[in-house]
Amino acid sequence: MRNKSLKTLLTLILIVTFYFVSSAKEPSFRFKVNMEDPQSHYYHVELRCEGFVKDKLNFKLPAWTPGYYWIMNFAKNVVRFKAETGSGKKLDWEKVDKNNWEVDSENAEIVIISYDVFAHTSSVADAFLDESHAYISPAGIFMHLSGELNHPAEVNLKFSDRWTAVSTGLDELKGKPNTYRADDFDTLYDSPIYIGNQKTMTFDVKGLKHTVAMVSPEMFDTTTFIADLKKIVTSATDLMGHIPYKHYTFIIMGPGQGGLEHRNSTAVFSSASYMMKTKESYDRWLSFLAHEYFHLYNIKAIRPLSLGPFNYDKENLTRMLWVSEGFTVYYEYVILNRAGLLNRDEFLKVISKTIRNYENIPGHLLQSATEASFDTWIQFFNRNDNASNTTISYYDKGCILGLLMDLKIRQETKNRKSLDDVMRRLYKEFYQEKKRGFTDEEFRKVCEETAGTSLPELFSYASTVKKIDYQKYLNYGGFKINLEVLKDQNKRTDNFVKKNYEIDPNEHAAASEKEIGRGILR
Ligand SMILES: [Zn+2]
Repeated sequence: MRNKSLKTLLTLILIVTFYFVSSAKEPSFRFKVNMEDPQSHYYHVELRCEGFVKDKLNFKLPAWTPGYYWIMNFAKNVVRFKAETGSGKKLDWEKVDKNNWEVDSENAEIVIISYDVFAHTSSVADAFLDESHAYISPAGIFMHLSGELNHPAEVNLKFSDRWTAVSTGLDELKGKPNTYRADDFDTLYDSPIYIGNQKTMTFDVKGLKHTVAMVSPEMFDTTTFIADLKKIVTSATDLMGHIPYKHYTFIIMGPGQGGLEHRNSTAVFSSASYMMKTKESYDRWLSFLAHEYFHLYNIKAIRPLSLGPFNYDKENLTRMLWVSEGFTVYYEYVILNRAGLLNRDEFLKVISKTIRNYENIPGHLLQSATEASFDTWIQFFNRNDNASNTTISYYDKGCILGLLMDLKIRQETKNRKSLDDVMRRLYKEFYQEKKRGFTDEEFRKVCEETAGTSLPELFSYASTVKKIDYQKYLNYGGFKINLEVLKDQNKRTDNFVKKNYEIDPNEHAAASEKEIGRGILR
């Protein structure tokens, strides 16, 4: 009897539990994006939220987009905001912050908001829409429910049937045409979508599909270009030893400026100066793509603590862009060199040019690489007239410090370790195991442990404007630098003089030094 009643009770609990579990809906976000009137330059966006039963819901549009360190205030493009319940009852709302719409949601199970977004700025960070194509820079289009970024989102696209292709890093849902899924809003905001008549090509590396969407393929010899892109992907993934994505998409847009990195895609403009006319201009184009591609490791995976998870409402400050951007510049050239696309002389030439860019502007006497990183939000995209006198590029200085760090680690370890080991360890220890970014101190610790010694001088080069002893570090790899003062000098009263900074192999270097040089440059 006792057993029987216990059994009945357990069965009852099971039934009740099953009832509640199956009736409680998984919270969900479903977007419909309509762009069927492209000449208006307006996207019509509808977001259906299910399962967030509260008396108020706050919907936010990011103030910036990752990789583009500038407050863009995308909310300025939003008009005709509306809110209603699933049964069509209108809901009151008011704006309570620059990017925050507060809806009186009246504990409704389903809340649907809709709004229009004006999109007519052509940049990798802005959404765009006209008769020729749609470019969805997601942070400017998709609102999120405040504090609920970790839920999956579905996106359905409605567009003109004159457009034939959709290019994005998002996964398309099986059986649902033009519908895509992101595991969470960080993924959604990191996945631009290009819709138009771009030509789509693919290649495989290590069994993974890489899509190349080209808006102006006539600008390139596509056969050579795709083969070279494949070499870049192979070279970078060989270096890191692991690929974190299932598929990758290169969105290569028409003429314009700039590119933006993402976890499994990149969106770049192609410029006339990149055309395959000269080896030098083509090298610049390949370097640019290698840069955006390598960011999938350095910045998306290997990243400072403050660069993800992001706060989309305000600046996310870091002193480490000299590593995240500057080392990525250094690795552009390393990757191209190992891919057989940039020879030794060409490599040394671009490094010399980078040193000239840094040293031959007065700003290097005032601003350190860590300061330039920290102030990028106020100085990079809106430079004032005096910027070259007071600021530096952390791309240039970070690239230089990447080379010096590589040389130093190789010299200290008799060429057994290199900067590659630092990158691989950061990837494994922080991205794969701890699943977080690193602090400035943790980054330094990994560098010093790899070198087997402390690196006070190199880190002081990053955090101060101390004069760099180039020849000392270049000696480690059997290189020499020309420190001749240039004849063409502007008259200045300070101690600023322009120099040549050409780097060449030093024939008289010791065999062990030449060996280190060959470790870096194949
Ligand atoms: Zn970059």
